[in-house]
Amino acid sequence: MKALQYRTIGAPPEVVEIEIPEPGPGQVRLKITAAGVCHSDAFIMGLTAEQYIYGLPLTLGHEGAGVVDKLGEGVRGVKVGDSVAVYGPWGCGRCYMCAQGMENYCENAAAEGIAPPGLGAPGSMADYMLVDDSRHLVPLGDLDPVQNVSLTDAGLTPYHAIKASLAKLGPGSTAVVIGTGGLGHVAVQILRAMTSATVIALDVNDEKLELAKDVGAHHGFLSNTDAIDKIKALTGRKGAQAVFDFVVVQPTIDLGQAVIRVGGDLVLVGVGAGTAKAGLLDSAYDSSVRAPYWGSRSELFEVLELARSGAIHVKTEVFSLDDAPKAYERLHEGSLRGRAVIVP
Ligand code: NAD
Ligand code: ZN
Repeated sequence: MKALQYRTIGAPPEVVEIEIPEPGPGQVRLKITAAGVCHSDAFIMGLTAEQYIYGLPLTLGHEGAGVVDKLGEGVRGVKVGDSVAVYGPWGCGRCYMCAQGMENYCENAAAEGIAPPGLGAPGSMADYMLVDDSRHLVPLGDLDPVQNVSLTDAGLTPYHAIKASLAKLGPGSTAVVIGTGGLGHVAVQILRAMTSATVIALDVNDEKLELAKDVGAHHGFLSNTDAIDKIKALTGRKGAQAVFDFVVVQPTIDLGQAVIRVGGDLVLVGVGAGTAKAGLLDSAYDSSVRAPYWGSRSELFEVLELARSGAIHVKTEVFSLDDAPKAYERLHEGSLRGRAVIVP
């Protein structure tokens, strides 16, 4: 079968021919219907040999959807032919966090060598992939896999980030979304669907701001220090109840901290480097800083329900597996509108 693999530190990913994997006991083999391209892939491929921990060669793809193709011994709960989405942040399934469905915060994964597909385990950018347990599959039903595969990360991650701030986003509130690419343009829609907040989008790219407004942002501004005054002006000088930062470099963190209201949330989702300040002299009174990771199993069900109701819709650009390296070039250039999806 074909697979898109990261094989050499610093080199672009390559389409290669590898064996179709056989499902072992408890495993499920999927015939892939769609795989999403995330900036986190670009992040890990930008790490040095000393920083890189995901193993080589690595079949990319941590957003995956497929049709159940073959069951390993003892698998229950899914059948051949089911159309499913893959819940990616695999955990041990037994610890306190996993017991709540929050396998994204599994306390045993690192020690037991459990890694998500595409971030250690072979991922979804291939004709077939193995899923370690049927609990990591969520039925797609009649949802189109190509249009919805990205909800497994670009939907689930902002959903999880926003859900913990919902109580602060009542009528009259303001939410700021910094970076309206793959995750951010879904974040805008989740905020519109689940809150009555005024949504302000910030990006460095005018086309991404247009996209943010197309999908429901009330305002869109270039992400620079002028944005601070614009946000203050829109909020009666008080600031925003929540800032969701999908970039997380020092300028965006500083911008976020400058506009957080008393008691507000600064939510750092991007994996850029930078430091947020805390303390009575440095941050808004009683404000919080969180750095959430991915989302829980039940939240993936909820995100798919939002899509089924028509409340959220991922803007996608489709590439074949042969053209998958081009999708990463376009991501790097910043010229994708929404999310790139690979269809084998
Ligand atoms: P993307 O490339 O699709 O979108 C990033 C957006 O940020 C683009 O629109 C870009 O123009 C914009 N941007 C860049 N610099 C900016 C700046 N200084 N100010 C404002 N906007 C700026 O990326 P994505 O796939 O949506 O991922 C976003 C980030 O989230 C990445 O850092 C990714 O690694 C991270 N991520 C985190 C998690 C998690 O669990 N915390 C999960 C998935 C992705
Ligand atoms: Zn666990």
